Amino acid sequence: MIYLSPSKLATIDKCSLAYWFDRTKAKPLLPNLPIINGRAIDKAIGASWENKIKTGEDLPFRRIQEYYMSSMESSLPKTRLTPGVDDPKATMVTSIMSMKQYYDLYMPDIHPINIQSRVKIQVSEDIIIRGNLDCETEISIRDLKSTSKPIYPDKAKNYQNQLTIYNSSGKKKLYIDAVLTRGPGKAEIIEMEHNQEQAMAAINKAADIIRNESYKPNRESPLCTRRWCPHWQNCEELVGGTVKP
Ligand code: SF4
Repeated sequence: MIYLSPSKLATIDKCSLAYWFDRTKAKPLLPNLPIINGRAIDKAIGASWENKIKTGEDLPFRRIQEYYMSSMESSLPKTRLTPGVDDPKATMVTSIMSMKQYYDLYMPDIHPINIQSRVKIQVSEDIIIRGNLDCETEISIRDLKSTSKPIYPDKAKNYQNQLTIYNSSGKKKLYIDAVLTRGPGKAEIIEMEHNQEQAMAAINKAADIIRNESYKPNRESPLCTRRWCPHWQNCEELVGGTVKP
């Protein structure tokens, strides 16, 4: 049986060798700033959604900010910062401003019925997809993303696949809720089309790579920088060459 998750699918799509390193548990580096920042945003917004399921109300924004700051403060000492690229203070200021915009503009209309629910879907005889669904309402499936750049629909194939897989009945609307972490602070909601054909093609392609063990480096991938790929040192050792900073 092949077990895949939306994040594994996205990694295989960007670089199958990075997936192989993940799988063989090659010693990864510490998490980087975008990863801990994304987790802190998930925690802070998730706490408010959880409160809304219980009480019908979002938390005051002050509480969301406290959840965010507490997560960042505990994670930052164990974070890999890229000198000259990462600026934790600026990232935190922008993220808080973006979350505030998300809170004011969008959260009043979002009424979660499930958050962070585990999903397990058998998509074919030997492939099971497992993952976490960020937020489900009566009418929508939502994925909360923290991102340094706006998400243009034509570039969001992996997000679209993830949402399509989670909405296997095809009956709910699919949204990416994007919280920007660079610039003046901004949040946006992007509606995605259900695209079962594209999602199944990505799943089958990934499953074939795993079955045939045909893992390959992809130095042209957007994942392929020392900042983003936690395995760049292992990769330079195995494949040679130099990974971009
Ligand atoms: S360094 Fe680049 S080529 Fe190597 S595993 Fe990471 S993403 Fe793939």
